[in-house]
Amino acid sequence: MSPQNEPPTPAQVAHMYRDQPTFSCSNCAAVIALQDELISKAFSGRDGRGYLMHSAVNVKLGKREDRPLLTGVHTVADVFCVGCSDRVGWYYHKASDHSQKYKEGKYLLEREKLIKDNAWKIDE
Ligand SMILES: [Zn+2]
Repeated sequence: MSPQNEPPTPAQVAHMYRDQPTFSCSNCAAVIALQDELISKAFSGRDGRGYLMHSAVNVKLGKREDRPLLTGVHTVADVFCVGCSDRVGWYYHKASDHSQKYKEGKYLLEREKLIKDNAWKIDE
């Protein structure tokens, strides 16, 4: 990938990731994350299970705020899909508890907002 000032469009992201398994938005099918970027499935989202991810694409961040979560107060921002503006999870800016610092700079994506897409390769 080349350095860029403008974030890629959903169509460009789909093209870049066309050969890789991804998670897509359940509402508009924009690619949200590579399955390779998954850290853990054992997280809680707001309404159900959540996935902790190293990175996400086709998303924009909402307002930064302090939020009490199960594991203490975290400074987070809601994460929205750029395709449909649906809220798909949140981003961890900061964790107050030392044991939770590993989450900083990571994304928590709601499982029910994601569709798992496998990029099947038939001929190699
Ligand atoms: Zn979407």
